[in-house]
Amino acid sequence: MRRLPALMTVVLTVLALCSAAGLLSAQTPPEKFLGFKVGTDRKLADYSQIQAYFEKLGQESPKVKIVDIGKSTLGKTMIMAVITAEENMAKLDTYRDVARRLKDSRGLSPDEARKLAAEGKSILLITCSLHASEVAASQMSMELAYDLVTGKTPFDADAVLKDVIVLLVPSHNPDGNQMVVDWYRKYVGTKYEGGSMPWLYHVYAGHDNNRDWFMFNLLETQAVTKVLYQDWFPQVHIDEHQQGSNGGRLFIPPFMDPPLPNIQPMVWREVNLCGTNMAYDLQKNGFTGVVNGRSYTAWWIGACDDTSWLHNTIGLLSEAASVRIATPIYIEPTELPTSFVEKRMDFVDPWPGGWWRLRDIVDYELTLTKSLVKTAALYRSDLLYASYLMSKTSVEKTQTGQPHAFVISAEQADYPTTLKMLEVLRFGGVEIHRSKASFVADGRYYPAGSFVVLVAQPYKAYAWALLEKQKYPDMREYPGGPPVPPYDNAAWTLPLQMGVSCDEIERPFEADLVKLEAVPYPAVQAPAASEGFVVLDSRANASYAIVFALLKDKAEVYRSKGPVTLQGATAAPGSFLVKNTAGVRKALPALLEKWHSSAGVLSSDQGLEKAAVKNPRIAIYQSWRSNMDEGWTRYVFDDMGIPFTILHNADFKAPGEKTAAKGAKPAAKPAAKPKPVDLKAKFDVILFASEDAELIKTGRRGGPNAARFSRFMGSMPPEYEGGIGDEGVAALKSFVEEGGIVVTLNAACGLGFGDLGVPARNALERVDRTKFFCPTSILKLTVDNTTPIGYGMPEEAAAVFAGSVAMDTWTPPFDWDRKVVASFPEDDILLSGWLLGGDAIARKAAVVDTSYKKGRIILIGIRSQHRAESYGTYKFFLNALLYPEAK
Ligand SMILES: [Zn+2]
Repeated sequence: MRRLPALMTVVLTVLALCSAAGLLSAQTPPEKFLGFKVGTDRKLADYSQIQAYFEKLGQESPKVKIVDIGKSTLGKTMIMAVITAEENMAKLDTYRDVARRLKDSRGLSPDEARKLAAEGKSILLITCSLHASEVAASQMSMELAYDLVTGKTPFDADAVLKDVIVLLVPSHNPDGNQMVVDWYRKYVGTKYEGGSMPWLYHVYAGHDNNRDWFMFNLLETQAVTKVLYQDWFPQVHIDEHQQGSNGGRLFIPPFMDPPLPNIQPMVWREVNLCGTNMAYDLQKNGFTGVVNGRSYTAWWIGACDDTSWLHNTIGLLSEAASVRIATPIYIEPTELPTSFVEKRMDFVDPWPGGWWRLRDIVDYELTLTKSLVKTAALYRSDLLYASYLMSKTSVEKTQTGQPHAFVISAEQADYPTTLKMLEVLRFGGVEIHRSKASFVADGRYYPAGSFVVLVAQPYKAYAWALLEKQKYPDMREYPGGPPVPPYDNAAWTLPLQMGVSCDEIERPFEADLVKLEAVPYPAVQAPAASEGFVVLDSRANASYAIVFALLKDKAEVYRSKGPVTLQGATAAPGSFLVKNTAGVRKALPALLEKWHSSAGVLSSDQGLEKAAVKNPRIAIYQSWRSNMDEGWTRYVFDDMGIPFTILHNADFKAPGEKTAAKGAKPAAKPAAKPKPVDLKAKFDVILFASEDAELIKTGRRGGPNAARFSRFMGSMPPEYEGGIGDEGVAALKSFVEEGGIVVTLNAACGLGFGDLGVPARNALERVDRTKFFCPTSILKLTVDNTTPIGYGMPEEAAAVFAGSVAMDTWTPPFDWDRKVVASFPEDDILLSGWLLGGDAIARKAAVVDTSYKKGRIILIGIRSQHRAESYGTYKFFLNALLYPEAK
C-alpha cells in the first residue's frame, strides 16, 4: 500500500470524525439518485442503475461494503452489499470464521461453541428477484440498504447492525432484470404495457433458475451458493419473490405440509420463529392479507431458500402478490377467491381488494425484511449456537430411517458422468470418501477406488436427500379423493437422474477410507496407435461431446452396430469408431482431458458392421412463449459443444409470405397454395423441446385457465403471436419425406401423433388425475440398447416423468415403420417420488423411433434432458442427432 501524504491523512481524519459525529449525512437516498421514489407506478431501475446506486452507497457509507460475487451468464457483475456496523467491517473474516466453525461441530465442545456463539455475529443473507419479472425486491433493496445505514428503521439501527451482518444481493439474476426492465420500458404507455416477454428471463433457465440449487448448472446459482456454503455461512437466508395477483397479498412461512423428513426439526422451529415475527411486525404496521402455511410446501424442490434448510440454515421465502411488472392493477373484491376472503388461522386478516401497486409490494417487503434484520439481532447468539446443535445432530445422532452410507462404485458405465456427480455433490458441501482397497458393504463387493458418502456429516440432510430415493406421502383432497399435487417435483434423486450406480447401505462396514479433497480426475491416456480407429464408448455422454468436436474438424466417424472388443474392455453397441488420422491424434488429448474421458484403439475395423455418421446440421425450435425446456436444451447443447440454429415461427413459412392481418378481407380469388419452405436444404435434424403441440402450432395456450391467466398477463405484440401454423406442419412433413429427422421431446410428441401422423398415440390423453398421477417423479424404463436411439443406454434406466407421455403404437401403414426403443415395465415402475395408477402406463412405450419415407420422427416421451440434470437419459436425444446413415 502506498503511504498517504500527511495533509491527506489529516483531511481523512477530519472526515472520519465528522462522519462519526453525524455531521456528514452524505448518503444519497435512492429517490435522489434515480430521480423517482422506489416503487413509483411505471418506473423501474434497471440493473446498471441498481449496481451504480450500491457502488455509490458503498463509497458514501462506512457501513456498506460492495463485493463482487461472480459473473452472470451474459457477463454482468453480480454484486453483494455487506451492511453492518463500522466496527464489524474490520473483523468480517473473524465473524465468517465463527459462523463456519459453528456449522461443523466436530472437535468443538459445547462450552467452546457457547463462547463462539457469544462472540459471533448473526449473518443474514437477503437475495432479491431471482425471478426477474418479480421486480419489486430488487427495487426495494436500494431503499432497504439506505434505511439501514441511515437509521430509517423502527429499531435502533446502529445497535442492531452491531449484532448483524446483512448480506444483500440486490439481484440474483442481473441479466433477467435488465431484459425485463428494457421490455417494460419499450412498451410502457402502449396496449402491451406490463405484458410478458416472449423469451426467458434467464437465458437458459427462465423460471427454472429456482430449481437449479443442487445441480448448479447456472453461474448465478454458483455465485450465491458460494456465498452460502463456502464463504459466509449465514444462519438466516431469505429469498424474496412474487406470486399470482389475486390471492393473499403476501406469503411468508411457516410452510405447508409435507415436510421433507430428512430436515431437522430445529430448522422448522427457527423458520417459524422468523416467519411469525415478520407477520407480527406487518400486522403492527397495518398490512393485511398476509398468509402462511399455504401453497408452498416444505418438500424440497431444488429451490434456493429450500436448499438452505438442508444445510441447517433458516431458509425463508416471501411471495408478494404481483402487479403487471410496474403497472398497478385493480382487483374487484368479488375477484378474490373465497379462501382469500374468509378469515382462517393461517390467514387472520384478509385484504379487502382494490388498487394494488408496485409501491405496496415494496412496503410489504421493506417491513418484513427489516423485521428479519431485527430478529437476527435479537436472537444472535441463539441462532449461532443452534447451528452448532444442528451440526451435532447431523454428525452424531441417527434419525429414523437413516442409512449408514451411500456407495458409488468405481465400476460405472459412464465414469465421466460419475465424476461430474461427485463435483456437483462437493460444490454443495457434501463430504465424500474414497476407498483405498476393495470392501464389502451390506453383502455387496466394491472395488478399490469406490466412493463413499457417510450419511453422518455436517450437511447430512442434504447429502442424504440427494442420494436417496424419495417417498412422497400419498396426500389426498379427502380420503379416497384426488391427489394433492406437490408444489413442483416429488423427486430429484441425483444418481438416478444422472445414470450413476449408487447403493444405499444400511449397516456400518469396514473400509479403508480417505477423505476426498478434490475430484480425482484420471490422467489422460491418448491412444498411441497411428492407424485404424479410435473407439469412444457409447455409454459415456462425454464420447458424444468429443465426437461433435471431431466432426467439426471433419473427422471420419462411424458407429458400430454391435459391441466392440478392445484390449481389456468391451465398448457397447453404437460406440463411435473414429478414423485415426493425424488431425484426430492432435485434437484428441485436449478433448479427453476436457471431458475426463478415455478412448480405445483398433488397428483395423476387424470387419465390424458399422455405419457412417455425418456432422448434422441441427435446428432447435424456439416459440415466443418462453419455454424453459427449450432453454435447458440449449444449455445442454452449449455445454456439450453441439452446434445448432434457432428456428422461430417465421422460419417455417415461405419467404415473403405474410400472415394475414385479423379481419382482413379474403382475396377475391384464392391464391395457389404456397410451396412449403425447404427445411431440408438447411437442416438434417429439427428438435422440438417439450411444449404443448397446440401452442407450437397456434401460439395459443389451451386449457380452462387460459383466460384467467391472460387477465393479468396482457397480450403480446403481433410479431410474437401465432405458431408455426399449418404451413409449418406441411414444411416439417416434407422435411421428413426428404430425409430429415424430427425429434420431439415430452409434450411436443403431440406434434408427431396428430399432425405428422406417426403410428402412435398418447395413452394418457384422456386419463384424469384420479386414475393416473405422477408429479415429476423418476420411473423405470426398459431399453433396447441394440437399436440406434437406445445405443449406450443400460437395459434398465431411470427417466424423469413430468407431464410426459406413454405411447400405444400399432402396425404402421405403408411408407412408415416404427420401433419401440424404451417402454415402462409391467411392475415396479416407480423408482423415486410419487406414482398413482401405474397400470395406465405399464408396458406402454416411452421412446419410439419411427421412419417415414426417407426420414424419421423420433418421439422421446420422457424428460430426457430435464433441467440439465438427467444425464442418464441424454443419450436418447444425442443418438437422434448422431443417427447412423442408412447403407
Ligand atoms: Zn418467484
